[in-house]
Amino acid sequence: MSVPARIDLHTHSTASDGTLGPAELVGAAAGAGLDVVALTDHDTTAGWAPAVAALPPGLTLIRGAELSCRWFGAEPAIPLHLLAYLFDPGSPELVAELARVRRAREERGERIVRLLQADGIPVSWSAILAGAAGGTVGRPHIAQALIRAGLVATTTEAFGPDWLGERYRLPKDDIDVFRAVALVRAAGGVPVFAHPRASRRGRIVPDELIVELAAAGLAGLEADHEDHSPAEREHVRRLAAELDLLVTGSSDFHGTHKTVRLGAHTTSPEAYERIVGLARGVTPVASG
Ligand code: AMP
Ligand code: ZN
Ligand code: FE
Ligand code: FE
Repeated sequence: MSVPARIDLHTHSTASDGTLGPAELVGAAAGAGLDVVALTDHDTTAGWAPAVAALPPGLTLIRGAELSCRWFGAEPAIPLHLLAYLFDPGSPELVAELARVRRAREERGERIVRLLQADGIPVSWSAILAGAAGGTVGRPHIAQALIRAGLVATTTEAFGPDWLGERYRLPKDDIDVFRAVALVRAAGGVPVFAHPRASRRGRIVPDELIVELAAAGLAGLEADHEDHSPAEREHVRRLAAELDLLVTGSSDFHGTHKTVRLGAHTTSPEAYERIVGLARGVTPVASG
């Protein structure tokens, strides 16, 4: 390849809390000049088949997911996100765990709605579920309900401390992060810690946990991400070098639920090759 490959390894579709359907997403990825895109919806593989079916020529699809995890070494436990690439989507234990987390998300969503309603805020759980249209429900769907009710103007505002960021923030029953790493590995997948230093989103985990996760099978760290400052990116890169973890960069594209564009951050071909080389579940897909 004469021009350096453009590789974006973290995107969301309507199978979770993005706004483009999986088919539209791969079309947009090609339109944005990407060579490789990973579809990593929260806790689901439902977007894989429609994305494969619509894959435009010249684009390679990495099938993945972003797993909702929790580290129980702090009190209260700290939530974190694990990207999982190229795992076997039929692995029974992983399938069961993803289904359990999706149910837990619905339970939490409904409890948040009840808290809002108790304060007289006119939001409806059935309308929020309809907005998610069968995809994994998340706080961005509740944010849309707050926007529809005229209470906030933007998703960012809905994640502020008066709303979903603090006052109406409830934990969900996530997967223990060590169990998640083990399940992804057992399914032939490659686990990469998503935005590990995104302190502006909430509490972050100590480097000591990342050292332990690396020993437990974690393969990489996401460094270049919208929610990392330059210093945080550098910190992640240094830690990855010390632990011999691969480093990724990604947009974490969510359509109009966020402002970041596809390909805003990218991954090196070397890191991409490492991921593909480690994977034993499914292969990258390129349309013929
Ligand atoms: P949940 O998975 O339901 O806990 O919601 C987390 C999702 O909300 C993340 O994956 C992002 O898509 C989105 N999100 C988190 N923080 C923010 C923020 N400050 N502004 C906009 N979207 C956010
Ligand atoms: Zn999201
Ligand atoms: Fe995330
Ligand atoms: Fe994400």
